[in-house]
Amino acid sequence: MSSASVTDTRFDAHTMANHPENAGRLQAIRRRLDEDGLTGRLVSLEPRPVDDDTVFAAHTQRYVAQLRRTSELSSVAMMGLDTYITPQSYELARLAAGGVVGAVDAVMRGDVDNALAAVRPPGHHATPSQGMGFCLLNNIAIAARYAQREHGLERIVIVDYDVHHGNGTQDILYGDPAVLYISTHQSPLYPGTGGIGETGQGVGTGYTLNIPLPPGVGDAGYSQVFDEIVLPAMQRYTPELILVSVGFDAHWNDPLANMQLTLNGYDRLARSLLAAAGELCEGRIVFVLEGGYNLQVLSHGWANIGRALLGDSSVLDPVGPATGREPSVDTVLSQIRQLHKLS
Ligand code: ZN
Repeated sequence: MSSASVTDTRFDAHTMANHPENAGRLQAIRRRLDEDGLTGRLVSLEPRPVDDDTVFAAHTQRYVAQLRRTSELSSVAMMGLDTYITPQSYELARLAAGGVVGAVDAVMRGDVDNALAAVRPPGHHATPSQGMGFCLLNNIAIAARYAQREHGLERIVIVDYDVHHGNGTQDILYGDPAVLYISTHQSPLYPGTGGIGETGQGVGTGYTLNIPLPPGVGDAGYSQVFDEIVLPAMQRYTPELILVSVGFDAHWNDPLANMQLTLNGYDRLARSLLAAAGELCEGRIVFVLEGGYNLQVLSHGWANIGRALLGDSSVLDPVGPATGREPSVDTVLSQIRQLHKLS
């Protein structure tokens, strides 16, 4: 197996003190990959900025111009209440999207079997016309658009298991039957979208699959969600490429949400997607970092994905198990199965 890793110290210039989405996140990941002996085993891909045409396949020219102008200010600016833009952020957002595009290229060309991209700023909340939720450009949607245009793909699956709904990814791809977007997320929680009834529009109807889950769902519930919904939906769609929006903020010890996944539980999710890629699309899968704000969880979780991609059976969970009871997900899953005709 050969696996590519995309990350870069340049992303660290997009940062803000006392903000959860800061440079410490990738620093922790890089340190963990080094300490676990993974850096040298992964094929390092240097990210290059994405070109304008590829960005405009996901975002309006008006928004991109606004983002560039805001980033040209001499000091840090806010977009909404929670999303900061530094003088470096516009270029780094293009570098982040370009990093995911480069990972897709490497996998589609067969240079590597699979890839993981630890890039910042994250992307899945960025809509066609608006940055929000710490996200500026939608890295994974841009990469999906690129894979359609440059590699002629007609069926891409995006699985988003960040604890928040990827409203931006959904918006960008809502009318597109050539991308099946599947999201698991805590509900209620920011940004408030992602209801079961949001299934796509026009010819894209049925190709958005939302799985809102009550607070407290952990390893057992997420396994059930993947076994009963995520994997069957992917098998039915027969993707040519799988892209994954990874967020470690559904971990029980994450400060921003209330789910109860453990690192072992996260590992099982990643490995089930890896197995699905092997079964459905010659192993072509790219994991893309979104959220996750407990640095110990984030860094070990990312290293665990690296080990899974490389074919190691080991998984490390120094953070340990959750202690709360899990709510049942039976009712919501049966509603979703019915709506998406998955039974
Ligand atoms: Zn999140």
